[in-house]
Amino acid sequence: AHRKPLPAFDGRGVLSDGTEVPLYSNVGNGKAAQTAAEGKAEGVGLFRTEFAFLNREEEPSVEEQTVEYKAVFDAFPGRHVVVRTLDAGADKPLPFLTDASEPNPALGVRGYRTDWTSPGVLGRQLEAISAAASESTADVWVMAPMISTAPEAGDFARMLEEAGLRTHGVMIETPSAAVTARSILDEVDFVSLGTNDLTQYTMAADRLLGPLAELNNPWQPAVLRMIELTVQGARESQESTGRTKSVSVCGEAAADPALAVTLVGLGVNALSMNTRSLPAVAAVLKSVTLEEAQRVAAKVMAARSAEDAKEAARAELPILD
Ligand code: PEP
Ligand code: MG
Repeated sequence: AHRKPLPAFDGRGVLSDGTEVPLYSNVGNGKAAQTAAEGKAEGVGLFRTEFAFLNREEEPSVEEQTVEYKAVFDAFPGRHVVVRTLDAGADKPLPFLTDASEPNPALGVRGYRTDWTSPGVLGRQLEAISAAASESTADVWVMAPMISTAPEAGDFARMLEEAGLRTHGVMIETPSAAVTARSILDEVDFVSLGTNDLTQYTMAADRLLGPLAELNNPWQPAVLRMIELTVQGARESQESTGRTKSVSVCGEAAADPALAVTLVGLGVNALSMNTRSLPAVAAVLKSVTLEEAQRVAAKVMAARSAEDAKEAARAELPILD
């Protein structure tokens, strides 16, 4: 049977009971941001800034960086844009920042950790983000990749404050961050789950290795449990601080329609994905109430394998047949 072609995304992620689930795009440069805006993304949930640095022998100047960042902000005037600071290392090596001879690059100096070995680069990037943000109307949020502890999140938040950047966040990509999400969220305003890395680190399976694809699957019960723990931590932090703490997902998991429903059922507030996936995710979300999504999530959480988890979700979502 052929499925009916999906209607284009109308620019509003919403469940059938009216619950809003903003749907954002993942982008790497101004051109991708324009495509995202044409695809009616509600904003940018992940701006991978390392694209501005790739294939460079040296660090780009603050002025050059400012131009790159502004191009993305200008595609979303008045909208939400989450900038991720440089995620160099492991699958994204940079000659001026990372050490190619590390024996285990995925467990090495990558992401936020490069600030310890090359101090200054992150500070200059924040200066450029701040300059670009002040020249645009986008609502700019900034987050750090590869965070493992609450003190790291606190240090990052203070760097953002010094740079005049107001909304502070970090990515949850490691099991250590997921299980300490409450203390991390006591330090910052939001978290975004990077399920690609969270899966790799939870399952101890290199995300680049084909033979490990079965482990590298966000439907794995252990990965779903990490997501659930993160949401619980956010709720606890919200109660103790009295401040709103948002949890989004910006890994590939958000683009899988059945998983998107599950994530919303677990308590995730917003989803960010490649622009092409917006129509399919919007359509499935529109077919369920929040209560139904929670029921799907409960069934999924009772599964003992990735396959059973996916099956359990699909059985509840006839729209995906
Ligand atoms: C992730 O790890 O899920 C993520 C969004 O970041 P990246 O894929 O760029 O590592
Ligand atoms: Mg990542």
